[in-house]
Order: sequence, then structure tokens, then C-alpha cells
Amino acid sequence: MITCTSAWTLAECSKRRYGGSMKPPAALCLLLLMACRSAAPAADSAPAGGSDAGTDGADATDATDGADATDGSDSGQDSGQRPNPYADDPYALVDSTLILVSLDGFRHDYMERAETPNLDRIANEGLRVERLVAAFPTKTFPNHYTLATGLWPEHHGIVDNSFYAPDLGTTFSMSDAGDNRDPRFFGGEPIWITAERQGVPAGTMFWVGSEVVWPSGIQQTWAVPYDGSISYDARVDRVLYWLDQPTDAPRMLTLYFDEPDHAGHSYGPDDAHVTAAIEEVDAAVGRLIAGLEARGRLDQTDLVVVSDHGMTAIATERALYVDEVLDLDLVWIQSWGAWSNIWPRDEAHTDAILRGLRYLPHATCARREDLPEHLHFSSGERVAPLHCIADLGYTLTSSDWSDSIPDALTGGTHGYDSAETDMHGILLARGPHIQAGSRLAPVENVNVYSLLARLIEVEPAANDGSLAPWTEALRPR
Ligand code: AMP
Ligand code: ZN
Ligand code: ZN
Repeated sequence: MITCTSAWTLAECSKRRYGGSMKPPAALCLLLLMACRSAAPAADSAPAGGSDAGTDGADATDATDGADATDGSDSGQDSGQRPNPYADDPYALVDSTLILVSLDGFRHDYMERAETPNLDRIANEGLRVERLVAAFPTKTFPNHYTLATGLWPEHHGIVDNSFYAPDLGTTFSMSDAGDNRDPRFFGGEPIWITAERQGVPAGTMFWVGSEVVWPSGIQQTWAVPYDGSISYDARVDRVLYWLDQPTDAPRMLTLYFDEPDHAGHSYGPDDAHVTAAIEEVDAAVGRLIAGLEARGRLDQTDLVVVSDHGMTAIATERALYVDEVLDLDLVWIQSWGAWSNIWPRDEAHTDAILRGLRYLPHATCARREDLPEHLHFSSGERVAPLHCIADLGYTLTSSDWSDSIPDALTGGTHGYDSAETDMHGILLARGPHIQAGSRLAPVENVNVYSLLARLIEVEPAANDGSLAPWTEALRPR
């Protein structure tokens, strides 16, 4: 009989609750822990993370199956005992830890318009990329999963925050916990699984794809299911708490903050609320740096701070009413705003629909195969047959939709063509593998996975990116 307790972790699920050597699959444990979490939120046993009660029931996922399968060693190893693929390389920095931090919607120029002493420090003592070029569509789910896998959205399959998947005959919704666990939606191999597969314990303090229960049984050692109400301090403290663990301490971590995206949507990128949100996430990064310094670990940590996309101002006067040029009964449009994906209800009407859409001013509408090459959005079943991309600052809408969500036409948004610099984010990095004072021209975020694999010194899985853009910023091995 399973009993949910406050300190119950997946490691215990695997090793203690079932006794002896009978290990249930990690997938089963993860599901049980998530069930426990929703049934009985418990007080946190982590000393520094006391305020994030309710997360503890699911705060650890067991990757020992995967680690065992890969390296044949027992669980409970720390970096000293892990078989080291670079053992013969005198310059390898195998005792380092990687922390990948995402600041949602942090536009490439935001550091210049607010007080960001902590981000400035990372940039000054390490690498700053002029702009991190987001993948299309320039939205949260596609881009976080591109950062994690090195694949274009058309290849990893997370083509929007919510999307129709004809291959599965169903839709994915970013707010559906079951969809976020379902491996059928998520292609490729995220960096935390690449790490675990090669014996590097990993932890995810939120990331798109981090809740997936993989059929291989390989999971990250530590994880918390997405809960936007957990305070930023508690997120940082949880990461530090994991690092303090005497066994299975992670050497690859993710950490996610949902600002300044929210403020950017509500008020537009130029508003004082965004400045405040920029400073809030900078303070969270500062708490992380201080925690690492207090532990004497800052200089063994490769801190990589990224954002998924930028933000631009929109206005009611720049609304584009699709129903003025098209009978909406002929199509199904899932996404509105900066970009619309359009599924004709009858394929025979596709040409006629496109002819109508081309009357829309301030938008480019095309068949998916005719989209510009730099968007990498022409293949894969989940990419709709037709697309309209609004000019920067314009919003695709319909009379019904704008009546139901009037706020959607003011403030800010993203999702536009990835060539628009307002859609570009940041990448800063500091640590033992990074040359201090490095500056790089804009880099596409599909290349970040290769950098992350290099920083933890594991072989990357097959992907669309490359290490080439980063070589100047890396310390020689
Ligand atoms: P958007 O700005 O519409 O592209 O989406 C941003 C939203 O995605 C944020 O406000 C978060 O609430 C949500 N989000 C980010 N990461 C996750 C995640 N791992 N699971 C569920 N929702 C998430
Ligand atoms: Zn985002
Ligand atoms: Zn957003």
C-alpha cells in the first residue's frame, strides 16, 4: 500500500517503499508522486525551500535506472565516483556544475534599461551574446524545448504552446498536466536526459518538457512539476538544496522564471512594470549567485542565463480582423495574435482561403511550404497547411475573439517572425568553461543544446545545432 508522506521522494518510492531490489519503473513512481502531491500537499523538508509547500511530494524523480543502465555503477555516486568520459584529458573540468536559467520574455536589450547588477556581473565576468535568436514561432513552449534539445520546433514537435497533433489525433495544451507528461508530444532528447543517460545527475526546477515520463525509464534525478505560484526565492533555494545533497547531487540543473514575460504582455515592453520585473528576476539570479558563493561553488559553476524570446508593443489600432477577409467557418485557427496557424476544414478550399487571406494588410500569409527558409517551419505533420504572420506590432484577431479577450490587443506580445530583433532574447554565461570577457554576434538558440552538452562534457544527441558559434567563448580543454 502506498502512503504519501511529506518527505516522500521518488528515490524512496523506488528503493524503500517497495523494499529490497524490487524497483518499480521510474514512470510509475513519478505518476504516484504526482498523485500524492495533488492529494496531500506537504510541508517542505528542504531547509531553505520551506515556503514552497506542496511541491515536495514530487520533488525527486529517480534516474538511477537510467544511470545504472548507462554506466553500470550504483546509485548514490557523486562526481568523484562517476565514470568520467574525459578521464584521459588533463584539461577536462569534470567537477563543474551547469545551471541553465531562463528568464521568460527577457528581450535582448532589457539589461540596458534597468538595474541588473547580477546579470551585468555574469556578462562582465563571462560571455554575452549580442542577441539570442529565437526559433519560430517565437513563443514559450517551442523555444524552451528548442533550447533543451537543439531541434527546430518542426523537428521536436512542440510547434506552439497549444497545438493540434494530427499524428496523434489529439491536441496538446501547455496548461494540461497530462499532456506535459506525455512523451508522444515531445521529440528529441532534452539535455537533462542526455546528461542522465551518460551518468550526470540532473535536476529541473521547471522547464518545458521536464515532466515527460520517458518510455526508456531514464528520468532526471530531481524535478518539481510546474507550479507558477512557487516563489522565485523558493525556486532558487530548491536548486541550492539539491546541490547540498550528499548523494546524487545534480551536476546539471534548470531553473525557470516566468517574468518579465507577464509584465510585458500586460503593460507592453516599455512600461515601468517591466523594468520592475527585470529587476525582480535579476534579484533572483543574485540570490542564486550568493548561494553558490556561500557554498564556495560559484567558480565551479557554469551559469548560463537565457531567454526564450523577446516582446513588442501592440495596440488596438493595429488589430487585423481575419473575419473581414475570410469566412471563419471554412477554417480552424488555433493561434491568434502575432501569428496564426490555419487548418482548412476542407483541403479543396485551401487556394481560395489563401486568396482571401492575402487581402489582409500588414500580414504575410503563405502555405507552409512557401514560408521563408529561416523559419524552419515547413515540415512535420503538426505544422498547419497555412500561416499568417503579422507585421511587428500588429495582432491577428477576429471580431468574436477580440470581444471575448479585449486585453489581448493591448500591452505586448511575441510570436512574430524570428528575424524581428524585438523577438530576440539573451544569453549570458559565466563559469569554468567560459572565457571571461567574451562577446559574440547573434546566435540562433538551436545551438544552445550543443553548448550545454559541452559544458557538462557529454556527447550531444543528434540535433539541428552546432558548437561552432561558441568556440571563441570556450576555454580550451
Ligand atoms: P507565452 O508567453 O504565452 O508564450 O507563455 C508563457 C507562459 O508559459 C508562462 O506564463 C508560464 O505560465 C507558462 N509556462 C512556462 N513554462 C511552463 C511549464 N513548464 N509548464 C506549464 N506552463 C509553463
Ligand atoms: Zn516565453
Ligand atoms: Zn509570453
